[in-house]
Amino acid sequence: MESDVQYRFDRMTPLTWAFGALIALLGVLGVYMMAVHTRNYPLLTVFLYSIPSNCAIAIFPHEPVLVLYGKTVNLWKLTAVATLGTILAAYLDYKFFSPLLNLSYSAKYKSHRYYQNAHNWFYKIPFISLVVAGFSPIPFYPFKFMVYASKYPLWKYLSAVAVGRFPRYLYLSALGYLFQIPNWIIFGSFICMFLMVYYKKIISWIKKGFVLLSRFARGEKIRTGDRMSKNITLPMALGIAARTAKNIIIKRPICIALEVTHNCTANCRHCDKGPKVEDFQKTPEEYARICEELSPAIIQIAGGEPLLREDLPDIVRALHRRNRPPYLVIVTNASLLTKEKYLELREAGVRQFSISLDFPDERHDQFRRIPGLFKRLEGLVPGLLSLGNGDITLNTCITRDNYPYIKDVARLATKWGAKLNFSSYTDLRTHNDSFNLRHPEDTSRLSAIIDDMYRSSNGDYRSVMTSEKVLRRYNNFYEVGRNIPDCKTGEKFLIVNPDGRLTPCAMFIDERYDSHEELMEKFATNNACGGCYISIRANTEKPVWELLADNLRALRLSASDN
Ligand code: SF4
Repeated sequence: MESDVQYRFDRMTPLTWAFGALIALLGVLGVYMMAVHTRNYPLLTVFLYSIPSNCAIAIFPHEPVLVLYGKTVNLWKLTAVATLGTILAAYLDYKFFSPLLNLSYSAKYKSHRYYQNAHNWFYKIPFISLVVAGFSPIPFYPFKFMVYASKYPLWKYLSAVAVGRFPRYLYLSALGYLFQIPNWIIFGSFICMFLMVYYKKIISWIKKGFVLLSRFARGEKIRTGDRMSKNITLPMALGIAARTAKNIIIKRPICIALEVTHNCTANCRHCDKGPKVEDFQKTPEEYARICEELSPAIIQIAGGEPLLREDLPDIVRALHRRNRPPYLVIVTNASLLTKEKYLELREAGVRQFSISLDFPDERHDQFRRIPGLFKRLEGLVPGLLSLGNGDITLNTCITRDNYPYIKDVARLATKWGAKLNFSSYTDLRTHNDSFNLRHPEDTSRLSAIIDDMYRSSNGDYRSVMTSEKVLRRYNNFYEVGRNIPDCKTGEKFLIVNPDGRLTPCAMFIDERYDSHEELMEKFATNNACGGCYISIRANTEKPVWELLADNLRALRLSASDN
């Protein structure tokens, strides 16, 4: 198992991604050749088709194709070309999937006893196992997985693929040559193999098709946004994805926090806002102009407590673009939120209400220093959610005081029908070290809590929107001594202050700049700070593929509630 430990810190380098892209490109080319040039270039077609039918995520059967071409093409050439194509697929797979399966956060499966048992069995006779699985009808996927996960030597793997696949391909080609099997039988077997693998998916598509047809027949209106969460339409989701991609490329923030006031109704124990301050506030139109220039995919309208501003609905209206980004989120402690205010803000364009909740009971009042706040939320949140918009997310900042209770908070959120997002505490605002997870026993206990939440299958924690990887990174932030370097403030996120000037993050509130360019030049490019790992940082600094996967998951969770 030594090799497993060694590779736990693999990285996805640009070269790794290039291998992934090459698999996709050759895969598409292989399918194109098979569909369009079936007869024109048989050897080239078989070679290229070996990629989509043999790579780790192959979705097409290989066997009927060899039987088909065996009828007309020289057997030895055909077998050699198909074997070479398969070796190429195995090589590309190895280069892409081995690092992917050995990333520090994806390699957790290695501690599972199923993996360890499989690993022990495989390594009794690895080469022979691969050859036998390559030759016989035994599914090859589990063996591939073991090879990539344990980084079985590449040359041995490719040799085993060649030794196992060559006789198998020769035998299949000979079958076509000797029996001249009619094309309709070969084509039928191709379809049967396809159906054997995908029958469940196909049945579910057919069912969905019937449901839509019956709704159509009953005269119900079917919109493209029907299967999306009610707080996000399909055009909006696509717009956010496109804006995010564009901003990543041109290095503009994905998400900004528009702090419309620094006054607050609370005096939270983890935050430096609360005492009354004099704000130099901008008008809704001025905020709209600033945000237009920054052009983020998401705007969190925050504070202080944003509901203290009477012109908040006007601010929202000024920022709102129908069915287009930015996606507007209000971050509030909800002490001033009422059903009427909620409806007004929703009507104005708010698509998500992010409400703070640090404890699953009255301890929340002590933490926020607002008596009766928890009782208020207990009545308000389920009431708002009963309106059916699915747009309330609870927000829990993990501290040393509340981490033992985050499962209770998650259960409560599930009971209320809300979503739950976690953030992690930083002492950079208050310099209060007592809320940090300072001791190894804290982080190992939090790790066990995370295990429980994400391994649970009883639905108690389905409210949790924060991905397991992000939650583990919060914990890792403490494990490594509260320093995660390479902060991307300015590039991925920033803050707009009440006076309209820009600040890199809430911990450097006195660093104020008049433009994004100035902030990047004078702060972000030389920023060596890694002293926090708050939610906005953790969620905007994710690698692109993780960002995509997490957002799709969030959409799926939201849609499944409707
Ligand atoms: S790590 Fe980045 S976001 Fe956090 S305090 Fe430092 S500069 Fe601000």
